[in-house]
Amino acid sequence: MLTALMLLASCTGRQTKTEEGEEFNYFVDQFEDMRVFRYRLPGFESLSLRQKELIYYLSEAALCGRDILWDQNFKYNLLIRKTNEAIIKSWQGDKETPEYKSFITWAKRVFFANGIHHHYSADKMLPSFSKEFYTSLVKGSDQSLLPVGNGKTADDLLAVILPVIFDPDLYPRKIERGEGKDIIAESAVNFYEGVTAREVESFYNGKINPADPRPVAIGLNSKLVKKNGRIVEEVYKSGGLYGEAIDRIIYWLEKAKNVAENEIQKKELEVLIQYYRTGDLKTWDDYNVLWARNTEPVVDYVNGFIEVYEDPMGMKATWEAIVDYKDPEATRRTETITANAQWFEDNSPVQPQYKKEKVTGVAAKVINIAMLGGDCYPASPIGINLPNSDWIRKEVGSKSVTLANISEAYDVMSARSGMLDEFAASKEEIERVRKYASIADALHTDLHECVGHASGKLAEGTDPNALKEHQSALEEARADLFALYYMMDNKLIELGLLPEKEAAMAEYDSYIRNGMLTQLVRIRPGKQIEQAHMRARAMIARWAYENGKDENVIELFTRDGKTFVKINDYEKLRNLFGSLLREVQRIKSEGDYEAGKTLIESYGVKVDPVLHNEMLARYEKLKLAPYTGFLNPRLVPVYNDKGEITDVKVEYEQDYLSQMIYYGTNYSFLPAILN
Ligand code: ZN
Repeated sequence: MLTALMLLASCTGRQTKTEEGEEFNYFVDQFEDMRVFRYRLPGFESLSLRQKELIYYLSEAALCGRDILWDQNFKYNLLIRKTNEAIIKSWQGDKETPEYKSFITWAKRVFFANGIHHHYSADKMLPSFSKEFYTSLVKGSDQSLLPVGNGKTADDLLAVILPVIFDPDLYPRKIERGEGKDIIAESAVNFYEGVTAREVESFYNGKINPADPRPVAIGLNSKLVKKNGRIVEEVYKSGGLYGEAIDRIIYWLEKAKNVAENEIQKKELEVLIQYYRTGDLKTWDDYNVLWARNTEPVVDYVNGFIEVYEDPMGMKATWEAIVDYKDPEATRRTETITANAQWFEDNSPVQPQYKKEKVTGVAAKVINIAMLGGDCYPASPIGINLPNSDWIRKEVGSKSVTLANISEAYDVMSARSGMLDEFAASKEEIERVRKYASIADALHTDLHECVGHASGKLAEGTDPNALKEHQSALEEARADLFALYYMMDNKLIELGLLPEKEAAMAEYDSYIRNGMLTQLVRIRPGKQIEQAHMRARAMIARWAYENGKDENVIELFTRDGKTFVKINDYEKLRNLFGSLLREVQRIKSEGDYEAGKTLIESYGVKVDPVLHNEMLARYEKLKLAPYTGFLNPRLVPVYNDKGEITDVKVEYEQDYLSQMIYYGTNYSFLPAILN
């Protein structure tokens, strides 16, 4: 699972100087609702040569799968991206006109979203320039750069992509979860072709053995296609679907294997390569068992088909990759939490039968990202807890990481943003959040990842996928509630993790403000809440508001025509979080789909249009972009005469579009050509 960023303004006194002592420039670019920052690689210089070499190879592997994600998101994405790249590289006309600038803005947003649908809202991002103008760009570009073959021309290409780009009714949404719709037929995402939701269910139902204590993640790494009336599974593997890109990933993983930090890591990389060769999901589980156990290495990575957020059926995974190395200072904090994991489990408000008797191996650490790839780029998570398989989590445990350098960039930049001044309810709250948000926010993420996701167990015989389309939102809610419940516990102060209760109050302030109000700025007018983490936050905040109404625990009020939210009783709010945690755990443990659906649909989805418009208008005045992505550094190996790597240098790139074009030129391996 990934932890996405909470949209809050936190202030921090964290170190922002580079090792040379200059101020590090985080800001790179901003276009409409998206902005791009850079992140630093603190301590990279002091890693050993072997570790740097390992990071370099894994980073190459992380970049080689980029095309896979583009194709998974939508079947025409690669064709459109390659066309845009041809225009940006070769079109010679006037680049200062409003139309061309508007094209560039749209192209940047498409690069950011890894496709023409918004990465968060899932809506198609319609251009504000004309079809005719786009046609003139395509025709005025170097024709040899266009993605066409076999005698096909720019006209043939345009005939295919113009309606896809410009027609608002064609493929309007990447993921459709709306009621009364066929969530597969009406989702543009490319996991299924020619099949209905019912057909998918019946295809996989026969393949799932509910009695298997160690079930593989059926359907995780394949596309389901109807061919001549028969449904077939096209597996992502070497020689199979996406084989060309997977072979490049394997090439770099082979090199990484030779400089692995220990024998398990070497073995683990061998098994991962084996999995990419065969597509076998049992091998994927074997790999994950090794990976989850191996907490020793300084350098670690994620590489594979992992998260199922983008599949309306919650089954098929997008490709993602990160490369990271340990941040020794901050790791001490999460080790304290992990060392007390059993205490947290035993003392939670969850019903005893749904608690783990033994919380195993919650390996928590704070890491710095060295490279982001696939579904983690450019919009990066701030925390990761993997593997996702329930039985592996139960028997072996999971690895949980907080992405320190990514969080740092967020914190530094949001402290300068003005969000807090606009939306916080009082001066007192602003001061509290300024003082404590950085530590409280980091602690919330740690608790969410290290003990939240890792806690609890299923009742015997419960299908781990019973919650279906609400699975992700409920799971994020469960982890958030676990974190929120413990934020206010004296235990954290005892353990030296929180300086005082006020820090926890700052976290409650931020969470409720975000869940009830500020996260609405990430949603377009007229739309509902779709994204799993956002649904979880809305559900928790609004449920607590409604259920604490009698005692006025949370209060909504207006001042100068603006809506604010404030917490009147923090202890009572904590109790409400505890009750909801107990209920959400029960829902998960028993697979109570109906109850889960009711919770999410009653509190986590709908948007009050009046409040929404107010939030958007206030936010608009701040001139901020709600979605943040990150430019990767470039890792440059230094070779000696014998062709051996003697060092790896970090170059911090400056230009967003250049990185996109560089990746398109050097890391595009899927044959997306119209012919
Ligand atoms: Zn999570």
